[in-house]
Amino acid sequence: MGMPTKVTLIPGDGIGPEISQSVREILTAAGAPIEWEVCLAGQAGLAATGTPLPEETLASIKTNKLALKGPLTTQIGEGYRSINVTLRQTFDLYCNLRPVQNLPGLAGRFTNVDLVIFRENTEDLYAGIEHKAGKYAAESIKLITREASLRIAAAAFQYAQKHGHKKVTAVHKANIMKLSDGLFLQCAREVAAQYPAVAYNEVIVDNLCMQLVQRPEQFDILLAPNLYGDIISDLCAGLVGGLGVVPGANIGTDCAIFEAVHGTAPDIAGKNMANPVAMLLSALMLLEYIGEMATAQTIRNAVTAVLTEKTALTPDLGGNATTTAMTEAIITKLKDR
Ligand code: ATP
Ligand code: MG
Repeated sequence: MGMPTKVTLIPGDGIGPEISQSVREILTAAGAPIEWEVCLAGQAGLAATGTPLPEETLASIKTNKLALKGPLTTQIGEGYRSINVTLRQTFDLYCNLRPVQNLPGLAGRFTNVDLVIFRENTEDLYAGIEHKAGKYAAESIKLITREASLRIAAAAFQYAQKHGHKKVTAVHKANIMKLSDGLFLQCAREVAAQYPAVAYNEVIVDNLCMQLVQRPEQFDILLAPNLYGDIISDLCAGLVGGLGVVPGANIGTDCAIFEAVHGTAPDIAGKNMANPVAMLLSALMLLEYIGEMATAQTIRNAVTAVLTEKTALTPDLGGNATTTAMTEAIITKLKDR
């Protein structure tokens, strides 16, 4: 075996430390060749160093180019930039990739859901260009550029081609936002023309929402600007068993940060009841990203076994197991193999 890969680990806030601990234990038990460099951010960073995004953390990600991140709390109110948004912009993580699938053994409202969301991650209403317009109004700018739209479209089509997906659906509201969403669509069409083997269509975001909750199996890859992508990600998570089981990756040209779709879940933080699967599956995406396919598959099989047996599920999945108990059950399955 070669040298372990160094990965920055940000445990995060809320349920972050609990699920990070779980993920570390499971990856260690599976013999994943990873050396974690634990760094602080969010509330934990603020408390320890006075800043929510310490220099050391940024330096570690810059060096390792790979990170696994727990959810982070962002202070609401003026003067606080979202740390998640800052990280994405600092490392130009333009592609947010979220595979949403029915997991074997886990009953959802639907079967056959197998879609991948490609969410543009750097602009749109998340560019943070906001100002007050006098005393009684405020403005946020929805910034859409050709460059960012082309590269997220290219990422979606390249992925489709590489992984044998049949169709890319662009999500928009260009009937209302003719210029901004119109440009996004224009770019998607240009890229689509370069991939004749992959089907391409377009859907208006409100119509998509209705269709997703009626017949989600008709969709394959969804390509969306930032805000719509954010909203449909949570919706799609709900189709397959909830936020506790949906992983994600933020990918740039030379750096990638993996994280679950869910947030800090303050309502259940510190209670040993968070579902570790979403963060674990994010870690498996990381393993696959660095070519550790076999280790990822072994852990995936252990998760499937636990989901199928249903004796160690956390409350969000209808069980009454603790985070620790579910973690131990997964590790036991790893040893059984
Ligand atoms: P944030 O502001 O950090 O996004 P939030 O209040 O939006 O926090 P989320 O973390 O997005 O909360 O979670 C929304 C709901 O889903 C909460 O009720 C939470 O308990 C539940 N949830 C999210 N993640 C998990 C998980 N891993 N395990 C169990 N329940 C979860
Ligand atoms: Mg949330």
